Amino acid sequence: MLITPHFLTGVVIASQVPEVAPAALAAITSHYILDAIPHRDYFDKQYLTWRNILLTITDGIISLGLFYWLVPDAHWGYYFGIGALAMLPDVLALPGVFYNQFWQWPIIKQMHSWHTEILQYAWGEQGWGIGLLPQLIIISVAIYFLR
Ligand SMILES: [Zn+2]
Repeated sequence: MLITPHFLTGVVIASQVPEVAPAALAAITSHYILDAIPHRDYFDKQYLTWRNILLTITDGIISLGLFYWLVPDAHWGYYFGIGALAMLPDVLALPGVFYNQFWQWPIIKQMHSWHTEILQYAWGEQGWGIGLLPQLIIISVAIYFLR
């Protein structure tokens, strides 16, 4: 999924769970649950294209904008940290795009294998329509919880 639904889900978890360990576990788990929903989060079938880089930058800016709009200053550190953990499997997948052997490292290999097996993509003609809808619903629910 895009950065925004993952990150905001982590932020909602942080807002509901004040203890770090269970919040961190829930945030990382939420990543795999959300990625199991059919979705679309990049163009073409290749990561490193200008359209994908622009999409990721825009997605990151939207995430930060919503974060600063929805989260009171007093909670920024904790909420941001748990939100970042909700993106961990994608962050850990990133070095492998540039250096393929990274995905063979212990622990990374298992996490990457699990992550790619769980990922459900919505390709084809209606890919963006069907693929964006669940993400927009997740973002809306997160905004509802954080408002
Ligand atoms: Zn993912």
